[in-house]
Amino acid sequence: MRLESFASWRGAAEAHQIPLWRVVLEYEVHQKGRSEAEIWARLEQVYAVMRDAVESGLKQPRQTPSGLVRDTGKKLYRSPLHVVSPEFSLLIAYATAAKETNACMGRVVAAPTAGASGILPGIYTFLEKHHGVSLQTIYEAMLIGAGVGLIIEQKASIAGAVGGCQAETGTAAAMGAAGIVYALGGDTNQIFEAVALTIMNMLGLICDPVAGLVELPCVKRNASAVVIAAAAAQMALAGDTAIIPVDEMVIAMGEVGAAMDTRFKETALGGTAATPTAQAIAQRIYPELGTIRHEEPPL
Ligand code: SF4
Repeated sequence: MRLESFASWRGAAEAHQIPLWRVVLEYEVHQKGRSEAEIWARLEQVYAVMRDAVESGLKQPRQTPSGLVRDTGKKLYRSPLHVVSPEFSLLIAYATAAKETNACMGRVVAAPTAGASGILPGIYTFLEKHHGVSLQTIYEAMLIGAGVGLIIEQKASIAGAVGGCQAETGTAAAMGAAGIVYALGGDTNQIFEAVALTIMNMLGLICDPVAGLVELPCVKRNASAVVIAAAAAQMALAGDTAIIPVDEMVIAMGEVGAAMDTRFKETALGGTAATPTAQAIAQRIYPELGTIRHEEPPL
């Protein structure tokens, strides 16, 4: 089984007349030498950790020593006001709660990275709780997400230090969008369109953590990423398309990441991290460090 591109993934599924998730399963069996039973057991274990990260983030205090993370998930969970709907508020509450669990050194699944570790738990928990999606379907959606992440990793990047935040939260959102579409009955075209739409809508997002801590804007971006994933899935399920093929969007993501200034790749030298307030926070946390001196005007 080849998983080098979305075209080859589709080709393998069609050639063997198997679902997308089974292509990934076969890939794992052959590449990692694991049995199918081991892989299903691992998926069950991974999802249990994800759900725990959401649940504990909603129930336990989530504050970091820096003060940059302060119970965003719980505030969203308890808020009586809903901009769109109570379910929408819960979706972003779940994602931020899980990411805050990570920021507070709790147990999470790097999916695909720790910085983006709230997005997939938020989406899968939402699908289970609010759409009644079975655990088996969630495990299959996780395999599809793994396929999406694997291709993006090979053709672009999944690391903020290499491709900016589009590579981290963008990849997780693309993985999640594919899972939403699959779990809600979408076909292969719709799943791939959701990925393309997500990448298109997260293209160019920089990595700019305040004081170099994976807290701010990271927690907030886990919230916005699930919203973009949900919007992309909604569009794909409604029959809309990205027009640009998904494999071309992945290449575009890689090109944008390669062209990104190093200030925007997890160095904490640009964007949010370079604002005066962020600089003052960094100075408070690391007094031995000076403030950033820009040799050219900040972008
Ligand atoms: S801002 Fe950087 S560290 Fe934070 S989630 Fe995005 S890529 Fe990760």
